[in-house]
Amino acid sequence: MEILSNKILSSRYKANGKAILELNKSQTEALNAIKSKIDSSKYVFEAVECLNCNSNGFDLIAEKDRYGLAVSTVICRECGLLQTNPRMNQNSYNDFYENHYRQLYSGNSIGTDVFFKNQHNHGKLIYDFIRQNVNLEDLNIVEVGAGAGGILSFFKENGCAVWGVDLGSSYVDFGKEKGIELFSGTIDVIFEKKIKPNLVIYSHVLEHILNPNIEIQKWYNYLNVGDMIYIEVPGLDNLTKNYRNDFLRYLQNAHTVHFNLAILESFMNKNGFDMVIGNENVQALFVKRELVTNKKKNNNYETVINILKKYESKRKNIFDSNNRKYFFSNVKNKSKRNIVSFFKNIGVYKFLKK
Ligand SMILES: [Zn+2]
Repeated sequence: MEILSNKILSSRYKANGKAILELNKSQTEALNAIKSKIDSSKYVFEAVECLNCNSNGFDLIAEKDRYGLAVSTVICRECGLLQTNPRMNQNSYNDFYENHYRQLYSGNSIGTDVFFKNQHNHGKLIYDFIRQNVNLEDLNIVEVGAGAGGILSFFKENGCAVWGVDLGSSYVDFGKEKGIELFSGTIDVIFEKKIKPNLVIYSHVLEHILNPNIEIQKWYNYLNVGDMIYIEVPGLDNLTKNYRNDFLRYLQNAHTVHFNLAILESFMNKNGFDMVIGNENVQALFVKRELVTNKKKNNNYETVINILKKYESKRKNIFDSNNRKYFFSNVKNKSKRNIVSFFKNIGVYKFLKK
């Protein structure tokens, strides 16, 4: 890979090791363990070609993530896909998911009933979204990155046959106890066991995968025409509610690639799937078509840069309704720490301190 120019969004995105999230004790412990594995080169980084179009020219967008980890986010000059590059290799990510991921992201290293229940509720949302267009009765469903299997449990209760894979074995063990058929590993386990799904679910998973092209091509070769893939990723153009308009808050070391709906759709089209329905959250349902024919090259570079600039200015806008809502809810709760974090977020804290 080659960095062609520095388009870093602002000085906040420079590597300085500082987290912008408040972390609890368990999360801090996980973060320190990850940092020490990076410092001692137990985690290995590799430069890669564009995950979408295989080209090699990138512009640099950010040097850190929300945890303060050195995460290099770049945008492809040829297609506009935002991605982490260089990024850790597969062995390093396997260790990360097995030992640190859940603890860093949720503060819990083992599956819990609360987590399972949240997954189960989320399963209902996915079920309702897909049911708008598809009859879900008697479907065979595989979920990739199934965690403890809570999403699948909802589909199972509604008459589907379900299987799941995940790299975090303690979550898999938890879900098995709940009677969900889960395996530790990747989709290769599903192929080896000759399980034939009609619907594959990726809920907040595709953005973690090191080679999404190969992942989706494997499914294209394995599924029948008319079989479906449901994909949910944090939408790059949907930062207001969950990330307070802050792209830095959205960046996290586990994510290797970032989509909005249009980019996800062109990525799936290229790999032989048509979109049935989708939104900017992003939730989208795709169906396998007969032939991989779409060779039209889309370049989303300008669109993506404009999205990032839009959120940088929204984040700083004290009159933005979401920013105001957040501020006043904290004034009401008298949360001083969050009010300080609000002013830091919109970039006026350093002036107030003077
Ligand atoms: Zn590209």
